[in-house]
Amino acid sequence: MEDYIIRSVAAGNQVRAFAAVTTDTVSRAANIHKLAPVASAALGRTLTAAAMMSKMLKSQDNIITIQIKGDGPLGGVVVVSDYQANVRGYVYNPEVYIPLNSAGKLDVAGAIGEGYLNVIKDLGLKEPYIGYVDLVSGEIGEDIAYYFAYSEQVPSIVSLGVLVNTDEKVLHSGGFIIQLLPGAETKTIDAIDDRIKSIPSVTSMLTDGKTPEDILEFIFEGMELKITDKSPCKYKCNCSRDRMERNIISLGEKEIQDMIIEQNGAETVCHFCNTKYWFDSETLKQLAEQCKN
Ligand code: ZN
Repeated sequence: MEDYIIRSVAAGNQVRAFAAVTTDTVSRAANIHKLAPVASAALGRTLTAAAMMSKMLKSQDNIITIQIKGDGPLGGVVVVSDYQANVRGYVYNPEVYIPLNSAGKLDVAGAIGEGYLNVIKDLGLKEPYIGYVDLVSGEIGEDIAYYFAYSEQVPSIVSLGVLVNTDEKVLHSGGFIIQLLPGAETKTIDAIDDRIKSIPSVTSMLTDGKTPEDILEFIFEGMELKITDKSPCKYKCNCSRDRMERNIISLGEKEIQDMIIEQNGAETVCHFCNTKYWFDSETLKQLAEQCKN
């Protein structure tokens, strides 16, 4: 199954819902960054959330970034998605090996620890929109739900799951986001709450072969689910030599001169895809010149 995201409305437009399968995307991230299982779960959940949240953006050039910073061994997570759900991301420390939690699951909350979550939306305006919340659980799904409720005033249910096998291979990844629209009736809210309490986890539904459509149909059984869009999602970096040159220029002339003297050049590595770029002394001299302009 190729990765994709669906969006939908239900209960006569009282609710909107997104669901995604992101197994290939998260596998790719795990391979690029050589992630330990709990790091795959943390990055995978965040990539899945960002992919779905990209479908809430309004225009082609909009970009959404999720940053999580915690005092646990993982350190933090950074994920970026464009409007087309081309996602990329990394964790500060990919090699985190900690025991499973008391439920026998990958301990994402333990890996992240206490900290905060930022959602930055570049909507093409002068200043980006920045939402900031303290982490409520560190499990990511609940934290993003809290972000929606607190920063965007949209009551939301967020469920994210990544299943990793004993060989550290990502078997399944996906999730859903359900949001109440203005005017949602209490009985609709109660019905969804009841339903959510009785459904299996996202990863067990995916393991059973359920698609994102199946998952939402299951949740909204008898509630007039209407799927309105289906679109692909993938792991894709947008780094380039040009972009790296701009990063080097931003370091300033003095720093660039030091690199010429000390290393006879400079190697930069993209955080998102690990592509390495080498700049020789001649190129660095030209970049140093551009700092003066
Ligand atoms: Zn890259």
